Amino acid sequence: MQQPSVLIIYTGGTIGMVNDPETGTLTAFNFDHLYQQIPEIKRLNVRLQTISFEKPVDSSEMNPTYWKQIAAIVHENYEANDGFVILHGSDTMAYTASALSFMLQGLTKPVILTGSQLPIDEIRTDGRENVLTSIEIAGAKNTDGSSKIQEVAIYFENNLFRGNRTTKISANAFEAFSSPNFPPLATAGIQINYATTEYKKSSTLSLFTEFDNRVALLKIFPGFNASVYQSLFDISSIKGIILETFGAGNAPTDKAFDDLIEKYMEDGGIVLNITQCNSGSVEQGLYETSSFFQKVGVVGGGDMTTEAAVCKFMYALGNCTSREQIKALLAQNISGEMTD
Ligand code: ASP
Repeated sequence: MQQPSVLIIYTGGTIGMVNDPETGTLTAFNFDHLYQQIPEIKRLNVRLQTISFEKPVDSSEMNPTYWKQIAAIVHENYEANDGFVILHGSDTMAYTASALSFMLQGLTKPVILTGSQLPIDEIRTDGRENVLTSIEIAGAKNTDGSSKIQEVAIYFENNLFRGNRTTKISANAFEAFSSPNFPPLATAGIQINYATTEYKKSSTLSLFTEFDNRVALLKIFPGFNASVYQSLFDISSIKGIILETFGAGNAPTDKAFDDLIEKYMEDGGIVLNITQCNSGSVEQGLYETSSFFQKVGVVGGGDMTTEAAVCKFMYALGNCTSREQIKALLAQNISGEMTD
């Protein structure tokens, strides 16, 4: 079999940062440093190419404009490569992975995001293993020549997760990510063990780059005062609202809140209900405290993560023309982000 070709796209993040002795903060530096720090990269059985953001960013700076840049690089280099590794800060990696899963539909090749909790030049860095294994997975093929992974994924600390099922769970543990509602796509030990977990999709790549970020995210809590949030429910500035509710999609019984939602929806607004629990699913109507949502047509977000819900909403608003189309798209499994 021919040596697979893997394109590394460096966007920034801790993995490519060093300590600035003058300011004491972590700042991005030249991508070539990666080869110096992990010379073993050259021993992997892959042909490597690299592209770096002109100005690498901390992933807190990520936004749809950067997502478009990353997706465009993958799209332009898709035919020429067997797989892609995106080096990215861990803070918003789950958002970028979710966004890319909606932007790059019909993938038959792996797009793997990875990074690290410690800079690559630290002795105890987790970056070395994360990068090496990500490259190996990006080049991994079945005996028929097809790629073992054919979607957007996150590799971190021995686990390869479906990108849009992943969430960052720790600011300092090496095991920084989890995928509470979906099993790993692969686990790395002495061998890399792959699971077969495909979702229904086309095998022709389509690129979607439009996002509309007029979306608000509202987390409910006991004692929640609806009037504080009144200005959010204004269709002229906010096209969609995501409610992070309790348990299986429940919220306090509150006439003022219900009236805000009902009026907003009459004005053309769309409301999506996801759970603030780490795992499990929204099931509107299961309890009295969620039956109002069901009655007025709030969309149940199933077991989507917050990251997937935010990116999917922006993608749906950017790509659909009618309110009904947006609602239908939100409720439907597009890229493996929710259980059917
Ligand atoms: N602040 C960094 C970032 O997300 C943290 C990291 O890379 O892990 O870019």
